[in-house]
Amino acid sequence: MPTKYIFITGGVLSSLGKGLAAASIANLLESQNFKIGMLKLDPYLNIDPGTMNPFQHGEIYVTDDGAETDLDLGHYYRFTNTFLSKLSNATSGQIYHEVIKKERKGDYLGKTVQVIPHITDEIKKRILLASKQKKVDFIFIEVGGTVGDIESLPFLEAIRQFKLENNNSINIHLTYVPFIKSALEFKTKPTQQSTQILRGIGIIPEIILCRCEKQLSDDIKSKISLFCNVKKENVIEAKDVKKSIYEVPLEFHKQGIDKKICHFFKIKYRSTNLTEWKSFVQKIKNPKEKIKIAIVGKYLNYRDAYKSIYEALLHTAYHNYLDIDIKKIESDKLANLKNLKQVHGILIPGGFGKRGWEGKILACKYAREKKIPFFGICLGMQALIVEFARNILKLKKANSTEMDPKTKYPVISLMIEQKKIENLGGTMRLGAYICSLKKKTKIAKIYQTNEISERHRHRYEFNNEYKKLFEEKDIIFSGILKNKTLCEIVEIKNHPCMFGVQFHPEFKSKPLSPHPLFNFFIKKALECKKKG
Ligand code: GLN
Repeated sequence: MPTKYIFITGGVLSSLGKGLAAASIANLLESQNFKIGMLKLDPYLNIDPGTMNPFQHGEIYVTDDGAETDLDLGHYYRFTNTFLSKLSNATSGQIYHEVIKKERKGDYLGKTVQVIPHITDEIKKRILLASKQKKVDFIFIEVGGTVGDIESLPFLEAIRQFKLENNNSINIHLTYVPFIKSALEFKTKPTQQSTQILRGIGIIPEIILCRCEKQLSDDIKSKISLFCNVKKENVIEAKDVKKSIYEVPLEFHKQGIDKKICHFFKIKYRSTNLTEWKSFVQKIKNPKEKIKIAIVGKYLNYRDAYKSIYEALLHTAYHNYLDIDIKKIESDKLANLKNLKQVHGILIPGGFGKRGWEGKILACKYAREKKIPFFGICLGMQALIVEFARNILKLKKANSTEMDPKTKYPVISLMIEQKKIENLGGTMRLGAYICSLKKKTKIAKIYQTNEISERHRHRYEFNNEYKKLFEEKDIIFSGILKNKTLCEIVEIKNHPCMFGVQFHPEFKSKPLSPHPLFNFFIKKALECKKKG
């Protein structure tokens, strides 16, 4: 079957959940056994989000091939089995960079280089490249931002051209239908206007997804259909879900969006197998216990900065029939350990820079001494090491050279010879690396294998000069970079659950197959609760 292209645009305002909508519809098509691909187009000028502040952009999601990408790729990964790589996310920065490089090489043969056709051609090329990286039946192309933004214009123009040149395309437009309390009515004007902007550019959406707080009446759907030139049956509600985003595919399925897409492309609708997904959602609705997990970090006010960590904790808890209360603790305010009382597990996520560092070390000490389940991710592992060095090995001011370049005991330092940092992108260990697990360790038991592949995004490493000292005192280096010496996993003996990993397991956790380390941590947290 020739690949079909599903474009997702958004109107009215940002944060309506385009990524989630795309991932949910992709999930439904995949459960009909279609092969799907995903591409996120981001209109900003950065080459990638890697150098952006987490408050600006949220989490940086990393793919196996080491691309630093938009967090929507995390949704794609959790909701589908799609293949993701650096071709799965393109920014305006990359597109313009490519065009300007070609111009300098003289590839345009003296022509004037313009947004139309040169930038739009490059965008269309990226769409085709993404759709060809694996053979897929459908590819979703989500355009970041909101229609009407100046930056997204070249992308929308490219979609218009693409639809003209390729009749295997559909546009789904996600808008907002607010319920105005003072008037006790839904208002369709914002939807009408954002669809008008799209039509002005020459794109007529085939399906409109209406983000709304509650069910839309028939009249409202008729009105949207009439004013937006979309068949009434293609006006779909994207109603706020009760408890979890994992309910979204089922809500869309109830309204038959998967059927409508097949119908549009004139392909036979295959029956959808959602059994596993449904039983997962059932678990969310019937938790048996509730556990409390503390995340000690520094970007906690911004919900999206640790997106994959939250999702991994949530879906792993749900998978185990548990409800979870995630307590966010700002590490630079952790002078008082009172905040950690009554939690059943402590997780320290990745991070950069000095602010809040000492608070993280304090949290490690507390978890180690009180035998609270502890999970250190990337910077979290480094904090575990520094705390152990200071308090057990008695290397008093031990530190990471990231936090104190002159430390007497650099237990965490730059191990890979670093070039002088001119280009801030690209100086990190990024992407998937194979790690060999030490036999008979707790970690090997958890993973039930000798070799794993996990994704990295960091500069600093454990300094092997100190390895012996640590091993003499109850630390096991249970994961080592394959055929090399870099330490990837540490565990503390004589503790029910205290380990740190130099990589980011959260990127590979899915609702139907939670990551083994998250699974172990959540189970131990439950045990901790039961012991009281
Ligand atoms: N800042 C640390 C490093 O660069 C940890 C990075 C992270 O947690 N992703 O090594």
